[in-house]
Amino acid sequence: MAHSNGTSDTQALDALDFSDAEHREVVIIGTGPAGWTAALYASRANLEPLIYKGPEPGGQLTTTTDVENYPGYPEGVMGPDMMQHFEQQAVRFGTDARYGTVTDVDFSERPFRLVVDEETPILANAVIVSTGASARYLGLENEQRLIGRGVSACATCDGAFFRDEEVLVVGGGDSAMEESMFLTRFASKVYVAHRREELRASQIMQERAFDNDKIEFLWNTEVIDVLGDEQVEGVKLINNETQATWEKPVAALFLAIGHTPNTEIFEGWLDMDDAGYIQTKPDSSYTNIPGVFASGDAQDHVYRQAVTAAGTGCMAAIDAERWLSEHPLEDEAGSTKEASDTEKPAPAAA
Ligand code: NAP
Repeated sequence: MAHSNGTSDTQALDALDFSDAEHREVVIIGTGPAGWTAALYASRANLEPLIYKGPEPGGQLTTTTDVENYPGYPEGVMGPDMMQHFEQQAVRFGTDARYGTVTDVDFSERPFRLVVDEETPILANAVIVSTGASARYLGLENEQRLIGRGVSACATCDGAFFRDEEVLVVGGGDSAMEESMFLTRFASKVYVAHRREELRASQIMQERAFDNDKIEFLWNTEVIDVLGDEQVEGVKLINNETQATWEKPVAALFLAIGHTPNTEIFEGWLDMDDAGYIQTKPDSSYTNIPGVFASGDAQDHVYRQAVTAAGTGCMAAIDAERWLSEHPLEDEAGSTKEASDTEKPAPAAA
């Protein structure tokens, strides 16, 4: 069966036997703030949602320390703790939460066909995509080789390994500032290499970073190689104005250069922008496939906050609930046409 773009097929998926597969009303993919909030609302709507936790249960917030900008926590909260709260609240209302990663989908007709961990077939009358986004790397050969051996995209996870050592952070956004400040708790010196001479980070984060004596900025500077056999021993840098190159000994390289949406398995099914973010109909979570809804960082490249992700997860559950009540599966005989139709239904009125 061809995907809607006609470029690939579902051969691997067709090899699985779906005749006895577990069949659910709603399956939610991903457990960041969007997924858990969708699960909370869907379970309170008696949809008994099944949620798959994915390769990084809890999502990006599990790699953060203090979250100070989520409403309702006047003293702030640790990211992993907050995600546990999200999970507990959703499970309390009957969410069926399971470890596992959805590795393939077939959205050509209802019930939709999903594959978990490349082996378990699952059928779903509606799907909520909340697969989030993952940290980006520079793509250098030695960077990839030394991931976990001094190259990291998570200062919170790995910063403590570099006590009293010099480290280098790449990036000029809020993440780079946040990670750099966090790293000063351990490192003797934190260099921030930014490819321009102006930061993208918010004013308050910039000021905090500039005020920190342990942080030194390297402007117009890019990392062109990572040095070291078994462990990171340094980086090779280039000043992109002067083209001068030099080596800087550091014990670790932290990447904070943004994220890529985790939407690969939906390619060919769901409309996406050039960067891979799922496109949703304005003011809704509707994708181009009726019955498939998208929320969180997989579809939002603008706000990308926990609170906005939670908000769109709520929207997805409400959209799914209303859509399911208007499209019970018994009425879906011959649904292939509808499911592969690229026309989007009007979202339910609020
Ligand atoms: P971001 O805002 O997209 O910034 C990415 C940074 O990496 C930019 O400075 C960019 O440079 C640089 N970059 C991208 N690709 C690069 C490459 N190949 N080589 C070198 N540098 C590269 O991403 P973010 O910092 O992860 O933030 C994402 C969103 O989360 C933002 O909306 C941010 O406000 C939010 N956030 C908020 C907080 C907070 O408030 N506490 C903390 C973290 C994140 P250019 O500037 O030249 O493009």
